[in-house]
Formats: sequence, structure tokens, C-alpha cells
Amino acid sequence: MMMRDITLKIEQGTRINETEALWLYEHAELSELGGLANRINLRKNGTAVFYNINRHINPTNICSLSCKFCAYSKKIGEEGGYAYEIDEMITKAGEAVAQGATEIHMVGGLHPRWNFQRYVDMIKAMHDAFPDVHLKAFTAVELDWMARKARKTITEVMVELRDAGLGSFPGGGAEIFHPEIRDQICDTKVSGEQWIDTHRTAHKLGIRSNCTMLYGHIESYTHRVDHMRRLRELQDETGGFNVFIPLAFQPFQNEMGINRYTFGADDLRTIAVARLYLDNFKHIKSYWVMLGQDIAQLALQFGANDLDGTVLEEKISRAAGGRAGMIMTRGNLENLILRSGRTPVERTTLYNPVRAGDLVHLTPVNDEYLAAGMTDVPKDMLRSLKDGETMSPSNLWKVAVTAPLHAISESLRASGKTNNTGPSLTESVAISIDKTTRAEALTHDIRHLLSGLESRSITAPAHAAAIILDTSDSAHAGSQLHLPAMIAATKLASPGSSIILRGVTAAIMAAESSGEKPTAYFANLRMLGLDVLEESVSDNALATDAKWLIFTCAQAAEIAIIPLITLKTLANAPDWSSWADDVTEMRGRLTTTGLIFAVALGVTQNSLIMPSEFMKAIGLTRLALPLPTQIWTPAHTMPVLSPQRGLGADSDQHPVMKLISALKTFGSSGIGFVAAGEFSAERAWEDLRASGTLPQVTCPRQNKLDLAEKFAARLSDLRHVPAPLAGG
Ligand code: SF4
Repeated sequence: MMMRDITLKIEQGTRINETEALWLYEHAELSELGGLANRINLRKNGTAVFYNINRHINPTNICSLSCKFCAYSKKIGEEGGYAYEIDEMITKAGEAVAQGATEIHMVGGLHPRWNFQRYVDMIKAMHDAFPDVHLKAFTAVELDWMARKARKTITEVMVELRDAGLGSFPGGGAEIFHPEIRDQICDTKVSGEQWIDTHRTAHKLGIRSNCTMLYGHIESYTHRVDHMRRLRELQDETGGFNVFIPLAFQPFQNEMGINRYTFGADDLRTIAVARLYLDNFKHIKSYWVMLGQDIAQLALQFGANDLDGTVLEEKISRAAGGRAGMIMTRGNLENLILRSGRTPVERTTLYNPVRAGDLVHLTPVNDEYLAAGMTDVPKDMLRSLKDGETMSPSNLWKVAVTAPLHAISESLRASGKTNNTGPSLTESVAISIDKTTRAEALTHDIRHLLSGLESRSITAPAHAAAIILDTSDSAHAGSQLHLPAMIAATKLASPGSSIILRGVTAAIMAAESSGEKPTAYFANLRMLGLDVLEESVSDNALATDAKWLIFTCAQAAEIAIIPLITLKTLANAPDWSSWADDVTEMRGRLTTTGLIFAVALGVTQNSLIMPSEFMKAIGLTRLALPLPTQIWTPAHTMPVLSPQRGLGADSDQHPVMKLISALKTFGSSGIGFVAAGEFSAERAWEDLRASGTLPQVTCPRQNKLDLAEKFAARLSDLRHVPAPLAGG
């Protein structure tokens, strides 16, 4: 089965089957899959991306059940348990309504002391207080609980709640329907069949609902497709679902021994497969609360057309390690949407625009429009880049501003510049040096850091492939850095590691203050063990000529260099003009100089670059620079919107990890140095593996340390990782 067969089928409007959906999950190239899902979404929903102004209220976390993945529930009397009085809920809702909320979303635990009347009273009091606000409340699990407690049928429960003011049902409690999984993660909850029956009943009563799928735990792709099949069948029957919401598993405090977030590439793949397989759903949600803002923004290019809302106070995924924060403002949401090239449209709960004028953005984007390009796509320019032609900075700027992400990915695939070579990483130890650093202490500190690596090192026990001497924080005091002594001390601490000096500004100042000629100074550093001079984001103010002069001296001493292209923001948008100048400069230098280990791409600190913009920059930089130049996207220079590290789970689970698995598909050759303490090399390796090829562990001055064999055994352990692409 080939991608083109499935594409043809979908393009012709023919429904794909479960085998084909599974193939997309297991084999499709991510950017190609995303491009197709994106086109189908534009045909259905135009350029609009929905959001709403809402508030979550979780009435209680006291719950009679004990689902194994749940970090939220408590038993009566347990510390941290709570149950809101109805008055408290009215106050919370009132705050949201004052800020423009059109929806209150309520789901919670199954409180053993609450009877059905309590739920009816809750809805009635809310509806009486805020008659214009849509009340979306109670999962199939809660409804089943109420019915059993009240000895009523589900229909009777629904009718009473509707008569009290309830507007629709959310989609929680679906988890994974297949009993093979459901019996393991929540065997006391309603079965998959009961969940489906409950929503069928709602739809027959004219009450619309949402549906979800909790993925990224112990289920397989087959279970996910089976789950979506059941939803598609019910939607065929009733048409009562508003939206499908894939929920990424959050890894904190579960009884399943899972301690890692879902791979970003898996999140995007899931959104795209859902868009293509669930052909009878108009809306697919990129739920930022669980995906994190970074992947949620990228998902808008992978078939999603809804970001959810302002949320205000969500406790359930937060308790499980959700790190996206609990609130987004209207401005935040609109910015995420606008910066992905789409039009933000505020919606009601039932997916109508709040403002009639926004209807125009829902006009499907037709095939002629798509064929001509999303906007004024300079196809010829992309073709020139694909063919390796040199391009002026102004044309590079034009193509960056106008070309959509997937047009760039398509050119990249056609250029052959994305191949099956695994993305690389270099396990390293980074240590900041400044004028107070003493050589003996440095040797001791590096040895100490290396010993900390022992249990988790992927290069070798107590050995990092590279030691980074980082001058980023002391660039202004470079003249007081005694680099020869520091490099000698580093060599002493770890003779087998490559030594990287990060920061060109400090290197220039140190060379100048030494009184030696720069060539002689660098020749000495090389002799002492310096292998690579790496540009830092803090070198941004450095004049281009001065930087390349020092790079040339380093290269003459056989020190490899890693120059950096930075993407900055200008007036709340990427400064593509400065990026185009940097790329042009780099291209010129690449043709005249040797010993460039890699070109790094990153963002300057405090630049609010969106993930979709960064992926675009990777693709265009890859297209513009000749092979075999490596384009590195170092983890420490990548843009991240989600404000927090993982809660409670391993502290090395930085939100940037989510993006790593998606980098290769846009042209990145790897993430470069992975410094212990900041990011775990082991975790980064797994994230790179999730891009669909085996990562390579490299060492700058030695031949590649291809540790494929060492890690081959792990492949079976890594769930939710696509098989290597074998053509098609
Ligand atoms: S997931 Fe819901 S039903 Fe299960 S334990 Fe948590 S609160 Fe209770």
C-alpha cells in the first residue's frame, strides 16, 4: 500500500478503511500526512480556526472509582480532596461570564454522597444565574453514575438535566474503547459499548455531544483506529457529535508506570489521521491544555480547526502533569492562530461563529484556490530553491513570508534533502566559565558532572562525547578568560571527550587580550585540545565580519566551527529579512571555507517565535544551503511557548522535547549537543527515534559513534513510534 493510493482515494472523496488508517499511523511520512490532512481541513472549514471563551469548573475530585491513569481523584477524607458548594460554582462561573465566557464546562469525580438531585440543582442554579451561557456538563461515566444512584434510565436522567438547563455533553470518559485496554486502565468504568450507547441516547434526544480518545499510554495504533471506527459509525448513524478531541496522556501520578509525555510527532500524526479517517466529523480539536501550546499551534497545520478555549481553571490534566498552564487569554489564542496563517473565529459551544461577520472565513477553500497556492505562493522561487539555485535575500524573504509550511515541506521532499539518515545528537556536559573559574576547580567540576552521567549515559559510562565550555553569560568579560588553562583542565578531566568552546565574542576578546596573533592563539588552543568553536545566541550583537574573521582563524588551526543562524521577531512576527541575510551570508561562506561541523538554527532569547514559524525556517534553511551541510536545531535554542517543565515527572521533561520528534520531517539534521542537566540524552534519543528513523549518536571530532546496535533492543520498548518508511 502506498501513500499515493490513499491520497488519491481521499482526494476523490472516497472513505478510507481501518487498514489504511493504520498504514497512515505506522508508515506515512509525517509532513506528507500533515499536508494532506491540512488540505482536507481547508476544504471543509476554510481558513477559520475556532476558539471559545469558556471556563472549566470541576465540581469535585472525590470519586468512587479508581481509574489507573487518573491523578485527579481522591477518596473521602483524603488530603487534597474537595467538593464545591453550588454557591461557589456560581461565583466562579460569574467571574468567567464577566470576562465574556459563553460556555461553562463541568466534569468531575463520582462523589459517593451526592445524589442525582444535587446535579440537577447544580445545573438549574447555574442556568438561572446565567441563562445565556451554554452549560456543557457530565461525561457518560457521570451520567451512568447518576442513573444508577437515582434508579432512573439514562434517558430520564438526560431529560431532567436538559430541562434544568443543560446544553450539551462533553466527550470525556471514552479513554480507549477496546476491552483489551479498557480492562487494564479503567475496568470499573462504563464499557466502550455503554459509552457509545449513552451518546446515542443523547443524540436521539437532540442533545449534541463531543467525543474524545485518551492516547499515548499502553494502547497500540490498532486500538486507536478501532476507537475511531466506533465513533465514526455512531456519527454515521446520528450525526450528533460536534467535534473529536484526541487527549494526549499526561504522565504524572498514574498507576501504570508511564513517566513520559507523548511524542510531539505522535500528537501531530494522531490529529492528521483523525482528520482523514473521521470524514464525517467537521471539527477536530487541538486541545492545548493537554498538547501544550507548542504542539497545539503546529497541529493547526495538521488538520485541526479548533484550539478549545480560555479554560481558566482546569484541574484534571493539571493534576496529571499538564504543563501548558491553566489559562489562555483571548489575545493568546488569537495570536497562536494568526501566526499559523489562519483566521481566529470565536465560536459558540455548538460551533457557530459568535459574530455573523466571521461566517466568510468558513467558506471552504476550493481546489482551484489550493492548486494556485494558499496565498501568492512563489512557486517558481520554491522550485529554484529545490533545484539548488542561489537566491537573493529579497527573494528568500519573499518566499519565507508567503510560502505555507506544507509547500516548503513538499519542495524539501522533492529536493531529496530529507533522506532516511537518522537525526543526530551528541551527548555532552555543559559548564559555564567566567573570570572566576579556576583550572583545578574546573577539572573537578567536570569529573563530578561526568560521574553524574554514569547511570544514564548513552555514549559510554562516565564519558560524554563532548564537554562544552559555555561563555554565553560572560561574553563581556572575555578578555579576562584564560582559555588555554581551561581547555587543558578540561582535557585532563575527560581525555576522550571532544571540547567545544561556546561563544565567539568571548573567544575574540580572550585572543585579543592574550597579545598573540589570533592564528597562533587558536593553534595553541587546538594543541591543548579544543575541537570546536560554537557560536552562541548571545553573540548576536557581533559584527558579521569580526565573527567570520575569528572563525577563519579557528579553521586555519583545524578547529571546526558551528556558526548560528538566528530567527528573531520584529513587531510580533519573524524577522525574515534578517534571517534571509544570515542565510545568504552563510551560503557564501560555505562555498569558500571548510571545517564547518554544522550550521545551527535557533531563536534569540525573548523572541516569541511560533513553532510553525520555526519549522518553516528549518525547511527553508535546509533548501537554501547546500548538502552535505548539517542543519542543527539545538534543543537549548529552540522556541517554546508552554511555560513549564513536566510536573512531578522527570525534571528533564522540558516542553522542548515535544518538538524534537517533529524536527526531522522539516529538514533538521539533528539537535546537536544535548547537555546533561538541561536535557536528558536518553530522552532526546527516544524523541528523535519517534521521527521514524534510528538516531545517530555523534562525536564532533571522531567518526560517528553509531550506537544503533546498542539501542536496537529498545525499539520494541518504545510505543507509538512509526516504522521506518520503506518507500511510498
Ligand atoms: S478518571 Fe474520572 S471516574 Fe476515573 S477515577 Fe478519575 S475522576 Fe474517577
